[in-house]
Amino acid sequence: MECTTKRPGDECGFMTAKGCTFLGGACFEVVEQCEGCGRIVQREEGRFCAVYPHPAAKWRRGVCNFATHARPEVAKDAAGKKINPLKAAKRAARGRR
Ligand code: SF4
Repeated sequence: MECTTKRPGDECGFMTAKGCTFLGGACFEVVEQCEGCGRIVQREEGRFCAVYPHPAAKWRRGVCNFATHARPEVAKDAAGKKINPLKAAKRAARGRR
């Protein structure tokens, strides 16, 4: 449904006939870590994320998984090869390295 609060006219899954159902009843503005992301939209009320209503929460546990300007760190071994976390866990459970 179309937003009628902070991003008027934008389609949003949190918008209902009774209003915005997201925390506090509206989107939160982007945070410093979002700078450079292609999903930032400028509206009269400020700058918001086009795909997530609470940008600060997306950065709480590391890099935002929707970000277009940053990628999470991938674990690599001493030789520089990517480590598969599932296989690493199985090796650790068997007591091997
Ligand atoms: S996708 Fe992530 S990094 Fe980009 S604006 Fe939204 S919350 Fe910020």
